[in-house]
Amino acid sequence: MSQLLPNSIEDRLYVLRTRWEHYVADGRFEQFIEFAVAVNSLAEYFSRLRLPGLVRLCEGLENAALAKLGDETTHPIARQHVLSLQRQMDTLYGSVLTSRPVNTERRAEEPVQPIPDIDWIKPRSVWMISAPEKSDMADALSRQLQFFGFKIFELGWHSGDAPEDMPLAVLFIPTEENTRPEEFARIAEIRASCPASQLIYLGAQASIEPIVALMRSGIDITIPVEEQSSMVLNCILDLVKTNEQEKYRVLVVEDSRVAMALIQRTLAQHGIDTQAINEPGTLLTVLESYRPDLILMDMYMPRFNGVEATRVLRQMAAYSSLPIVYLSGESAVGMQVEALRLGGDQFLIKPFNPVLLAAVVKTKIERFRETQRSSRLDGLTGLLNHTAAKSRLKTLVGQTAERGSITVVMIDIDNFKSINDTYGHPVGDQVIRGLAWLLKARLRAIDLIGRYGGEEFLIALPDVSPEQARAVIERIRVDFSALPHAHPGGALYVTFSAGVASFPYFDTPASLTEAADSALLQAKRLGRNRIEKAVN
Ligand code: GH3
Ligand code: MG
Ligand code: MG
Ligand code: MG
Repeated sequence: MSQLLPNSIEDRLYVLRTRWEHYVADGRFEQFIEFAVAVNSLAEYFSRLRLPGLVRLCEGLENAALAKLGDETTHPIARQHVLSLQRQMDTLYGSVLTSRPVNTERRAEEPVQPIPDIDWIKPRSVWMISAPEKSDMADALSRQLQFFGFKIFELGWHSGDAPEDMPLAVLFIPTEENTRPEEFARIAEIRASCPASQLIYLGAQASIEPIVALMRSGIDITIPVEEQSSMVLNCILDLVKTNEQEKYRVLVVEDSRVAMALIQRTLAQHGIDTQAINEPGTLLTVLESYRPDLILMDMYMPRFNGVEATRVLRQMAAYSSLPIVYLSGESAVGMQVEALRLGGDQFLIKPFNPVLLAAVVKTKIERFRETQRSSRLDGLTGLLNHTAAKSRLKTLVGQTAERGSITVVMIDIDNFKSINDTYGHPVGDQVIRGLAWLLKARLRAIDLIGRYGGEEFLIALPDVSPEQARAVIERIRVDFSALPHAHPGGALYVTFSAGVASFPYFDTPASLTEAADSALLQAKRLGRNRIEKAVN
């Protein structure tokens, strides 16, 4: 299926352009739908990459297209509407080109590697437009951002030459609460020249009207006066995490080859990954290996029907909330109601409307993923929570016999109570987030990072020697102690202690965590800001 998926931004723009050209040439309703779907999928793509200005332009184009959608009888649309849509397309293409970061040069003989979906390498610079009165806060923020590898450019509220490269984000720190007309003008000017950047306004009042006014002038995120710097770092670091989202996965259970191919094609056009089986006998094995976000279940199949298969899944804890959508040629209402009562989430009639099918599948999956996320991730840091971290550790230790090595680390921030007491709980929270971000930035995707308790973290590093693991944590310890944490009066510095325990000296999840915990206690006893190894 993957050859149908546009991978790079060029592919996506090309798909959009050709669909538009086909419509302009033939003027058929279905071609217009295809064009509207392509605009929508481009908007989703930019939204996933967190490129707000481009999302806006796409959404504007999508709304204009939807306003002209009509039906078979209203196409082709009038010439002036074609021209107006064309203009919006041109603006969008122009903005993509100007905001596209320059590709790093490639030597001619090097083969061009297809990099799926990750061709938009984010700039790492942040522009700061700050009032002179706020320079203390701006300086502390700037130091903190530089620590995480961002380049900071300071510009004035009134003028100032902008660097040529587009920024990842622009941070506005105004003089006072009420935004002045010339400040609105400056925001609008920056918005127009940086369509892909995130514009963040620090110091908005907590009422809706001024925030709406700021958003109209081009601001994407406003941060209330009280929350100030503690949220900024988080906002900006969030922007860098693109493509983290895994592709949506749908398992199609369908005995008709024709229906199966049609469904897979429709979902592939929307960037959804599919796997298909033509009878439910292998359902459990495939579910286990493929881990779909949703099942599209045919009603009538040989051996079992869709409702029976659903009932089996609903009584298994692992699949009790997995979305199941029935597809059936049967339109009798009584039977649909019965099928939903027995555990289905939605009923779609064959032949299906592709736009509706994709929309149902996507919204169901979004909700499902959201509930999955909130039950597994810690709200403050986005790291795995206690329960999820323990369960992941179990899986990793289970694989260690084949992999050969794993090191477990327990980290606890030093003298954290006094930070809370001196600077307040929100600053304490920000310190916890700062450490979470440093860990995310330094560790690999296969490593486990969990927030084990208040200011305690559980880490597991598979596939490296105990010495290598310890060296990695030691670097993080040293760097964390040099990380400035911004607070309204300036910056503060914090340290942590850690205990490490490695396989095969300890060989179960429980013995590894206990040993790391005792080593951590020893590190605290020996004076903090150090790492101790577990003794067996
Ligand atoms: P030690 O060096 O021995 O670890 O000293 P400590 O002060 O850090 O002691 P301990 O680890 O026992 O204290 C943890 C404190 O962290 C207690 C609690 O008030 C605070 N805390 C726990 N969770 C949170 C949180 O989510 N946010 C904030 N701001 N504070 C928290
Ligand atoms: Mg069938
Ligand atoms: Mg503690
Ligand atoms: Mg502590």
